[in-house]
Amino acid sequence: MTGAVRTTCPYCGVGCGVVAKAGGAGGWTISGDPEHPANFGRLCSKGSALGETLGLGGRLLHPVVDGGRATWDEALETVANRFRAVIDEHGPDAVAFYVSGQLLTEDYYVANKLMKGFIGSANIDTNSRLCMASSVAGHRRAFGGDVVPGNYEDLELADLVVLVGSNLAWCHPVLYRRLARARAERGTRIVVIDPRRTATCDAADLHLALKPGSDVALFNGLLAYLDRSGALDRDYIARHTGGFAEALAAAAGEPRAVAEACGLDAGEVERFYGWFAGTEATVTVYSQGVNQSSRGTDKVNAIVNCHLATGRIGRPGMGPFSVTGQPNAMGGREVGGLANQLAAHMAFTPEAVERVERFWRAPRIARREGLKAVELFQAVEDGRIKALWVMATNPAVSLPDAGRVTRALASCEFVVVSDCTRDTDTTAHADVLLPAAAWGEKDGTVTNSERRISRQRSFLPPPGEARPDWWIIAQVASRMGWGEAFGYGSSAEIFREHAALSGFENDGGRAFDIAALADADYDALEPVQWPAPGTARLFGDGRFPTADGRAAFVPVRAAPPATLPDAGFPFALNTGRIRDQWHTMTRTGRVPRLASHIAEPFVAVNPADAQAASLEDGGLAVVRSAHGRAILRVRVTGDQPPGRLFAPMHWSRQFSAEGAVNALVAPVTDPISGQPELKHTAVGLAPFEPA
Ligand code: SF4
Repeated sequence: MTGAVRTTCPYCGVGCGVVAKAGGAGGWTISGDPEHPANFGRLCSKGSALGETLGLGGRLLHPVVDGGRATWDEALETVANRFRAVIDEHGPDAVAFYVSGQLLTEDYYVANKLMKGFIGSANIDTNSRLCMASSVAGHRRAFGGDVVPGNYEDLELADLVVLVGSNLAWCHPVLYRRLARARAERGTRIVVIDPRRTATCDAADLHLALKPGSDVALFNGLLAYLDRSGALDRDYIARHTGGFAEALAAAAGEPRAVAEACGLDAGEVERFYGWFAGTEATVTVYSQGVNQSSRGTDKVNAIVNCHLATGRIGRPGMGPFSVTGQPNAMGGREVGGLANQLAAHMAFTPEAVERVERFWRAPRIARREGLKAVELFQAVEDGRIKALWVMATNPAVSLPDAGRVTRALASCEFVVVSDCTRDTDTTAHADVLLPAAAWGEKDGTVTNSERRISRQRSFLPPPGEARPDWWIIAQVASRMGWGEAFGYGSSAEIFREHAALSGFENDGGRAFDIAALADADYDALEPVQWPAPGTARLFGDGRFPTADGRAAFVPVRAAPPATLPDAGFPFALNTGRIRDQWHTMTRTGRVPRLASHIAEPFVAVNPADAQAASLEDGGLAVVRSAHGRAILRVRVTGDQPPGRLFAPMHWSRQFSAEGAVNALVAPVTDPISGQPELKHTAVGLAPFEPA
């Protein structure tokens, strides 16, 4: 393909291949890569508008220290000296990194190595904590490692696809198109399980609008039904799993009782159960509606239990399938860039710590887990963390209780932000700003939801003084005295080191064996699934990376969301994404045609609730919680069940004077995964009356 660069879309976890060619809007024409196995040439609205995000408007082009332009030397010295001073005075746990699923795997690897191996703290967490941490924890409990067993093709091979807490049509549009085509060609049956009616329901044979938080009751009821109806694979259970009896004992429930617990029609529950029991080729896809919950990990295991009970895992067209929100959430998991992982899928076991310490020649390795995202910012607020480095993300908009996060940033002794965007709600609080290279300028790898590693290739020089994230982190590490361990000359060199570390026999149990790639081979790397290059599915042989080689059923019990509506806050607010915007809109917000879909922040309200609250479609409402308030345009819609509201989380102060919707959300997290409950906050609703 001459004159064209093959790279990867930087938005969602589908990880579509993109071809950039000179010419067209923004100087580049962007099209789908027909050879990429994630999308085979398709792109959604966001991906096809990438060429219009390449301009320099809003870019951070040079380092800034204390509000004034600085040289790279001055900025890097300032960061290294201030971090060093805080560590010397208060210890390594007084500093933290908050990183991002937007980072490339190589960037992630270097940041994780610096914090855990050299600074000596595990206080590095990621905005992927908001995206898939509950799936990680659920996989580890069931499989013994954080591994997605299946792939995208399974959605095309399945006879039944169950979508739980996933608006696939808007949030993973290209994967949805693949599913819709399979449905048209071979009649795939689709069940959507979601409290609200979304665009995805248009293709559903059955929509179960269950009560928020009742997913465990529904899937426990399914497990009991599979037992009663003789649909269990008892041979598989006996030979490849443990703990079935305990899980079943926790799961008892007739469809009628389940329907009542879930707020559903008993006949519809029975229909879903009958379809699941009678369809061998079944895939269950789950996403943020499952993960972003105070019981997210239990929800994941309730789903996985049903697949283990039927032996439907790791074979073509069947399995539980967590789809990630971010382009490189999976790459971050691979390098261990989460506060509760050490490195390369390894936990903080004594053996793993010793192994990584030796590999990195680490002078001061972290030996225990660090603070997860929400608790990390609570530690910033109460002064335990005194120096914070935020990389490629905007927590002042995206985290729950975002107003408190903003206050924490404002009060922190020393804040560094490395980003490609100059003015965000987070950069406003930075003592030092470091200009990072953006998509189209960066070079490295990302891993999508089906474990496929793809290259992001640069086709533009970084503007101004922008530099790759890995270079920035390595420069700070060198100035802190660790130049020998961070003397990288290229992303290829970092990838080889990461792949070599991952090739250790780890608790994922499998070797990743492409550690010896020459630079030219790395440049030419075709999309490839790990662990061994080209592993399409895992666990099809019934062997799992646990101590006894068996998968574990996890007994789970239904429990309501942590904050329930009451007289003061009578509605349940769900925050999420819309079709044409990405996260806090630092890129998609600059493309006018993407705003033509939905132009401003809104709250979706059921007609009866709107009438009771004296709200009109198109009017303004004040939504308030115990944590904050937002003024939002009212959208009256029957898609929204009574008593429940939906508001998108994208708009920041850049685009809306009222700031972040996630400022309303309670900072409640799943006790196992640490993932926040962004899908359920008790709020009040009233017409907006100007002062
Ligand atoms: Fe990009 Fe996701 Fe759209 Fe594919 S589906 S083009 S990865 S945003």
